[in-house]
Amino acid sequence: MVGIKAEVLKRVYDELVSEAGADFTFCTQLIAVETDDNLVAAAVCAAKSGIYAVKAKIYIDCTGDGDLAALAGAPFEKGDEHGNLMPGTLCSLWANVDFEAWKKSGLSHQDALPKAFKDGVFTHHDRHLPGMWPVSGNIGGGNIGHTFGTDGTDERSLTRGLVWGRKSMLEYERYYKGYLKGFEKMELVATGSLLGLRETRRIMGDYVLCLDDFKNRAVFDDEIGRYSYPVDIHPSGSGESDFAKFKDEWENLRFGKGENYGIPYRCLVPRELTNVLVAGRCISADRYVQSSVRVMPGCYITGQAAGTAAALAVEKATDTRSLDVADVQARLVKMGAFLPNANKS
Ligand SMILES: Cc1cc2nc3c(=O)[nH]c(=O)nc-3n(C[C@H](O)[C@H](O)[C@H](O)COP(=O)(O)OP(=O)(O)OC[C@H]3O[C@@H](n4cnc5c(N)ncnc54)[C@H](O)[C@@H]3O)c2cc1C
Repeated sequence: MVGIKAEVLKRVYDELVSEAGADFTFCTQLIAVETDDNLVAAAVCAAKSGIYAVKAKIYIDCTGDGDLAALAGAPFEKGDEHGNLMPGTLCSLWANVDFEAWKKSGLSHQDALPKAFKDGVFTHHDRHLPGMWPVSGNIGGGNIGHTFGTDGTDERSLTRGLVWGRKSMLEYERYYKGYLKGFEKMELVATGSLLGLRETRRIMGDYVLCLDDFKNRAVFDDEIGRYSYPVDIHPSGSGESDFAKFKDEWENLRFGKGENYGIPYRCLVPRELTNVLVAGRCISADRYVQSSVRVMPGCYITGQAAGTAAALAVEKATDTRSLDVADVQARLVKMGAFLPNANKS
């Protein structure tokens, strides 16, 4: 496994969006919407130049948190039945890591972590440590530590999460240097400017993709992609039983080679709204499927489908529900999408 070279990726995304002719701005926050019955009439944004409204025929909500859809009144669910959310993680970059020595050592976190817990290295006895992967040479990209109890839709909670994430790096540095091999000279280069969030709102759409669909490798007439990734619910606490539950799901709710499930177009269409689509980790799914589809390839699939559907809806002067999904599928297939069941619809 290799980590992402973030600086290269930023330039690639800048170029892709610029070349596509999109008019875009950074440092701009959606803060409200104006609605007209079940239509979003304007998205209200705040930026350096002030507060302004953006009018569009179709809106695609890729905020991860489903901010636009929620502001417009679409129903949503958040977390488990008690409101517990998967924790966030503040991603990090480390220099001077000897990955060869780490590989050769054969040590595992599951052996080393209990020793560090016993020695009082950590505030939380978090058994779930995804780890660190080479980004380039001796630079490691860390998916290290969890910010338990962070709600990504609340700025106070997010702030606490970021502060804790930065502080916790010291504990992990002590752990990596003292209990593993290859990390003795490691040095923290940077932590992310944003907290990595796995879960907030799931916008309820015309269909809610569920665990049974996952288990049945479901096929849908209106599927806009097929996808494969295990159920990956990071525990919302650091208890032993939380970790055991995560491990059981991660090991058993997964597919064999070539197996996958369909993602219906209806999961991108929020209830109550006729000119909004959602894509990414906030699509309409139960918590199990969200934990699978939230991962990047799933977000690419729903993002591409939502963009394609929005363009078609504008071209055909129709809304998100009156659109013929067969047209969306045909265009996606033309772009190379894997839709083996599309011609059956
Ligand atoms: C620590 C961590 C490690 C992961 N590792 C992997 C991995 O190895 N492989 C993998 O495939 N996936 C991984 N994932 C999952 C994946 O990265 C995310 O789930 C995915 O990025 C979600 O994409 P998204 O576009 O739906 O949401 P996000 O990535 O959350 O993007 C939403 C964007 O919208 C912006 N935004 C939010 N609200 C507003 C608003 N009101 N106005 C304006 N902008 C707004 C946010 O700032 C953000 O830029 C990881 C996730 C985390 C947290």
